[in-house]
Amino acid sequence: MGGGNNAENDSQKNIQYHQPISGCCRSHSYPETNFNPGAKWIKGLTHDRLGVFVGGHFGAVNLGHVLFTERIDDDKHIQMVYWSAPGRSKPGFDEVMKLDKKEWKELKKGFNFGPSWTNHWVKAHLKLPSDWDKKHERIQLEFDPSCEAMIFETDGTPLQGITGGNNGDRRVDFIIPKDARHKGELDIVIEVSCNEMFGVSGIGAPDPNRYFTLNSADLVVPNQEAWRLMWDFTTLRELVEDLPGNSILQNHCLVTANKIMNTFDIHDPERTIKECRKIAEEVFGEGWEAKGADIYKEGLGKGKKPQVWGIGNCHIDTAWLWPFSVTQQKAARSWSTQIDLMERYPEHRFATSSAQQFKWVEQLYPKLHERIKERVKTGQFQLVGGSWVENDSNMPSGEALARQMIYGQRYFRSRFGVTSKVAWLPDSFGLSGALPQLIRGAGMENFFTQKLSWNNVNTFPHSTFNWVGIDGTQVVCHMTPVDTYTAQATVQDVRRGIWNHKNLESSDTALLAFGNGDGGGGPLNKMLENLRRIRATANEHRELPVVSMGESVDDFYDDIHKHTEEGKTLPVWRGELYLEFHRGTYTSHGSIKKGNRHSETLMRDVEYLATLASLFKPEKYSYPKDTIDTCWEKVLLNQFHDVLPGSAIGMVYVDAEQNYAEVAKDGRKMIHDALSVLLEDSKGVGAPMPLKEYKAMDGQFAIVNTLDFPRLETVILPVTGSGENTTALDGGWVQQSKRGDRMFAVVGAPGRAIGAQKTEDGSFVLKNSSVEFKISKGRIVSLVDRELGRELIPCCTTGGLVMFERDTPPNWDAWDTEIHHLETSKPLEFSNLKVHESGPLRASLTADIAYGQSRIWVEISLDATSATTQANSRPYIRFDAKVDWHERHKFLKFELPLDIHSDIAYYECAFGWVSRPTHKNTTQEIAKFEVCGHRYADLCEFGYGVALLTESKYGYATTGNVMRVSLLRGPTSPDSEQDQGEHQFSWAILPHKGHFFESDVVKAAYAFNSPLPIRHASSSNADSLLHTPPFIVEGAPSVILDTVKRGDDDDFSGSSTDKTVVLRLYEAYGGHSRPKIRIAKYIKVSKALITNLLEEEIEEVELMRSESTEDGCCIALSLRGFQVVTVKLFLENTADGAP
Ligand SMILES: [Zn+2]
Repeated sequence: MGGGNNAENDSQKNIQYHQPISGCCRSHSYPETNFNPGAKWIKGLTHDRLGVFVGGHFGAVNLGHVLFTERIDDDKHIQMVYWSAPGRSKPGFDEVMKLDKKEWKELKKGFNFGPSWTNHWVKAHLKLPSDWDKKHERIQLEFDPSCEAMIFETDGTPLQGITGGNNGDRRVDFIIPKDARHKGELDIVIEVSCNEMFGVSGIGAPDPNRYFTLNSADLVVPNQEAWRLMWDFTTLRELVEDLPGNSILQNHCLVTANKIMNTFDIHDPERTIKECRKIAEEVFGEGWEAKGADIYKEGLGKGKKPQVWGIGNCHIDTAWLWPFSVTQQKAARSWSTQIDLMERYPEHRFATSSAQQFKWVEQLYPKLHERIKERVKTGQFQLVGGSWVENDSNMPSGEALARQMIYGQRYFRSRFGVTSKVAWLPDSFGLSGALPQLIRGAGMENFFTQKLSWNNVNTFPHSTFNWVGIDGTQVVCHMTPVDTYTAQATVQDVRRGIWNHKNLESSDTALLAFGNGDGGGGPLNKMLENLRRIRATANEHRELPVVSMGESVDDFYDDIHKHTEEGKTLPVWRGELYLEFHRGTYTSHGSIKKGNRHSETLMRDVEYLATLASLFKPEKYSYPKDTIDTCWEKVLLNQFHDVLPGSAIGMVYVDAEQNYAEVAKDGRKMIHDALSVLLEDSKGVGAPMPLKEYKAMDGQFAIVNTLDFPRLETVILPVTGSGENTTALDGGWVQQSKRGDRMFAVVGAPGRAIGAQKTEDGSFVLKNSSVEFKISKGRIVSLVDRELGRELIPCCTTGGLVMFERDTPPNWDAWDTEIHHLETSKPLEFSNLKVHESGPLRASLTADIAYGQSRIWVEISLDATSATTQANSRPYIRFDAKVDWHERHKFLKFELPLDIHSDIAYYECAFGWVSRPTHKNTTQEIAKFEVCGHRYADLCEFGYGVALLTESKYGYATTGNVMRVSLLRGPTSPDSEQDQGEHQFSWAILPHKGHFFESDVVKAAYAFNSPLPIRHASSSNADSLLHTPPFIVEGAPSVILDTVKRGDDDDFSGSSTDKTVVLRLYEAYGGHSRPKIRIAKYIKVSKALITNLLEEEIEEVELMRSESTEDGCCIALSLRGFQVVTVKLFLENTADGAP
């Protein structure tokens, strides 16, 4: 035995392999003879032995047998009654407590709660045996309903969560408080909820009929010293297993653990446990335990400093394998539990994000909200992230990403007086290059994530680095080398923080975000115990990194700033953090993607029109700030990183669709209300009417353009009946559809002659003077730029819809599409082609496709108008598809081969674009076989390019010269019915002269997503808005005025007349720009500020006024490429409030 020559072993008389050597008569000298066999050990066998010290096969004779000294479950001591809430309802504490006594039934152990997702309330009266208080250090209620539960005080204060079952996240013990021990009895209330930490069926489709057995409702007395010995032994065992190779500390721990096993005696536990714990001090240091949390103050200096900073967290997915309503309970359970742990472990710090979850707790658990407030004040409960939810960051628009942080920070400030300093998206599936700028704009300069550790092709090269966004803004990013945000606080976790660190040369610290998570929960006390022991060991030995506790996440980043000369010595990563995984999430669940894009667009229009109405007609209209906030909060909630990506169970999407339906309803009403005062007596044109009735109406049609650039487009007027063919309405070019169900009109000037025809060889052609588009044998065979005489489809290739028939990722069905899906493609042919419209404003074809059980109907159209008013703008070829989708594990895309050669393609991202390779030179490039884009993707070369535009799709790929947009998938886990049924979506092909940088693609894509609403106004004031837009961007075609809204701090209660208007602009192409914002004269501005996203002043900008009182004023700005600028205009306080 290697320990034989260790001086420390002299005192261990009861260890058998240290038998006194016989044949020696002198006690302190080296014996002359030796007849023993020797002490060399078989290390592996000793190591294996450690597995039998607690529980298992030897559970009746090992430490596991003595963990409890008392256990009772009889009626005399535990009396319980229960009431089951009907269906899936979730009544609150107060409501349940009002129930009549006779509603409650007796409850016994063994009862089955269920089915899945139901809620049950238990009132428990506990009577403690009279001698227990004096005799025992701790008394607990062990309550294990095999599912999640929450313990309340009888006044409704949430005390702690329960996680039943036998998984590693089990937490079933409630410590009886002191006063109840003295009193000898306690009443508590428990809400039992029929789901586990991870829903009811893991990542499979949920079983609606699961029941959960009440396995334990026992009063127990834990043998505290036995538990502490178990934790000692656990740490020793982890040290043995995780310390590398054949180190001194590792051997020392193995010897110590082995000694403990030999010393423990089941027949004399009290004495031998004490002895064992003493033996453990050989590793942890003498008297280490008495130091408590102060253990973290020791062992520093002489080159030792905190290296792995522990912070508790629980990452509650805002919806995933459970719906939002269950998350509300999870937040209350997890957070009350953590507050309870803080009572006993003063070093414990807990970080959590997501203002939405706090808002739920505030509304549903106000008493807990107050308890959290106290802990926020002491710094134990830390608010991180500064965002509304931990959002997906691939798909939300730039403005939505900004709102995530604006709504998050404003909530944290209003309730807790705290501004988060660290953006926190550990689990989002790829991170947009727009984020650094927005993070800084929202008052943060640091960022935490780890998701790229899931990459399935390349290893991301950094742990701590400057993340530089598309516009050049940087944040300090820490991608924890622990590679998880739900670390179990093991020796391995602590060690990984250093050995897996990718750039120790420039920064040698790591954040250990530990605690059960995804389904919430957070740290268990065994984790806090383990960390104390790991730190105690590090204080004594040099082989372990120094784990530290008691500091904040902010302290961790401050330390990085301090030790890297404010980031100067850190490596830099530029642009997006592309996750090489979960590439199916850009497409999964088509209706959610559509809800997101359409809601974002709608909210833009709502804010723009409501702002104008509130300025124009303050006496008749007040800005609907509360409804706008409510709508935004729903849009932001649905952007959670398992909702918008399509990776949640079906139940979640019922709620999410409901959110979108409410946003659409409220949004449309707000637009109607605003337009009703802006265009007095006007009506929206919605339901089709006979043309005669339109013509008989007094007044005129008004097209309201909410975008900041002029538009020349064909719009559709819904009509009923037919006849009166192509009769002009007043002042416009019109065309009545062949079916008579719609009228086309051009806004602005007439366009070009246009036509659709079937040719002699059976091909179908759409053409105007600019482009000609041809379908032959069901496939797109030609797209000609007629002005240049250039064919864009390469010879012998065709475009159209294509089915990839093996979309079967090895894991994570809804999340992933793997590279192999590209190997089995089947081009689909348009059939039943017909000329549908033939000009003069719109020419179109209809076609359908049958595939398996699915049908696809497409209208392909070409308008007389160009995409935008930019010189040389081409018209786009538009595809409006209806799909009845019944495929599973198939991937429908639209593809277009192009005679255009470029190594990169451009894709819109939040507030700009991202370029990605079209080739496969390296594994980094191969990994990007499916990518995320917003409203456009563009492939171009010198002189020419083609863009694909979408109005609700986010998945794209450009491989070589083939562009693809991803349309529908059919994964079956975790939602077995995902995407089955009807879909409606549109896309378009936009050819453009010149490189993408010179093109009108950005504005065309913007307009493609913002159809022009038609209203009918009886008075002539319709012109004012149309012809004098309130804000015009001049001299900078690449700058987009994206948002117009009222200031967040404006008072809409009527008690103040101070008014501000906020404009948000961004540079969309990536170059410097110096726009002037011309403000119409009817908006009287007294002061203009450039602010951050939180509308706090950065600097004042000069208001330039012209001599003429007819003109308004103007401000000059300077933007670098992709810069986002927020301008806050203070309005003159006019007596009548009217501008
Ligand atoms: Zn998550």
